[in-house]
Amino acid sequence: NKSQLLQQDREHLLHPFTDFHDLGKQGTRVITNADGAYITDIDGHRMLDGMSGLWCCNLGYSRTEIADAIYEQLKTLPFYNSFFQCTTIPSIELADALSEVTPEGMNNVFFTGSGSEANDTNLRIIRRYWDLKEQPNKRIVISRTNAYHGSTIGGASLGGMSGMHKQFQALDYITHIQQPYWFGEGGDMSPEEFGVQAARSLDEKIQELGPDNVAAFIAEPIQGAGGVIIPPETYWPEVKKVLAKYDILLVMDEVIFGFGRTGEWFGSDYYGLKPDLMTFAKAVTNGYFPLGGTMVSDRVAEVIKAKGGEFTHGYTYSAHPAACMAGLATLNVLRNDKIIDNVRETTGPYLAKRWAELGDHPIVGEARSLGMVGALELVKDKGSRARFDDKCTAGGVCRDMSIKNGLVMRATGDTMIIAPPLIITTEQVDELVEKAHRALDDTAKALA
Ligand code: PLP
Repeated sequence: NKSQLLQQDREHLLHPFTDFHDLGKQGTRVITNADGAYITDIDGHRMLDGMSGLWCCNLGYSRTEIADAIYEQLKTLPFYNSFFQCTTIPSIELADALSEVTPEGMNNVFFTGSGSEANDTNLRIIRRYWDLKEQPNKRIVISRTNAYHGSTIGGASLGGMSGMHKQFQALDYITHIQQPYWFGEGGDMSPEEFGVQAARSLDEKIQELGPDNVAAFIAEPIQGAGGVIIPPETYWPEVKKVLAKYDILLVMDEVIFGFGRTGEWFGSDYYGLKPDLMTFAKAVTNGYFPLGGTMVSDRVAEVIKAKGGEFTHGYTYSAHPAACMAGLATLNVLRNDKIIDNVRETTGPYLAKRWAELGDHPIVGEARSLGMVGALELVKDKGSRARFDDKCTAGGVCRDMSIKNGLVMRATGDTMIIAPPLIITTEQVDELVEKAHRALDDTAKALA
């Protein structure tokens, strides 16, 4: 029964990114089943899942074709590795299919079990590439403040969340520049001016470190977990100019924005970027099976392949055959059902229109969205953008009010974020916006 389960949960389960002390006070939500774009908890409370699980169930929860593909593979060849000159048919077919859908010139994939492992893999590939190019000074990787790139030591070092950095010793060859967060950090500048300034901070950092010492720059197209920080339109064109000046690799972390979230296959396509390495995970299998990886451009792969010598890196579950079958089934649904076209042409623009209406709410300082992501900045005073307090109480209250109203929204500080399944209909967008509106009303009342 529920109380026994919760007791066992408290006693035995150490949850990721959770304050164990608060867990005891608040209790945990036990999610028992899901269908379409909805999840249901142990009390029978059904909620529109505005977060696609953890940004991964882009096709929702009722894709039996993906489950069937996994099960069929588990019956035929449940496991074999891709080490030491071995391979499996699903891994070859998925590598080929990914080369088709990823940006031009990205025709090589290294599979991992997660996004964090994929970013660690990037660090290994970056170093190998520059060593083979006989430029061993190129060691430093530049990332951004408030970024999230995973929880392994490599991934967390690339991440720029100060709370995380307090709890481990970060790798010393990774450094951070500012994020393009206009609402929070733009001051009196216009978004366009701020975008250029944030991009130029990359140039300044490269100059400071010396271009010959800088190996790579890593970024998400839009900071996801950092608060759905959609950069001003001037940001990426200016970053492109900066990178073109120096011989520095561009690593795009597409763990959240890959596979259709912007209305294009990848965020890199949306912003017209040509990455050297590209991290993916999550939605590649619709969250049905753990799988991640990094797409490696021909420019980088040619060096690694041509020079010979073993690349001493890999995971037992790199290219797990059932994971690869899940990936193939997911890509088939994305293609056959024209899911991404629908986001670009219909549901994305509709969400943009309806979500913007929430910007009129008295406690919302900004409502922004793009494709199938959105954010609301909660403020006490719209003019000055003053927050309710410095403990981000409003975000936590709004998240709870949202769940009460039957909608999963996530709070990143006092920024509410959504990333609903790409399959939601315009009627479900209406439902989402109406529930979010009620959650905002309840939050305003609770904080008054
Ligand atoms: N990179 C980004 C942008 C992410 O959002 C995440 C996870 O949320 C990761 C990397 C890490 O992926 P994983 O949790 O699969 O290790």
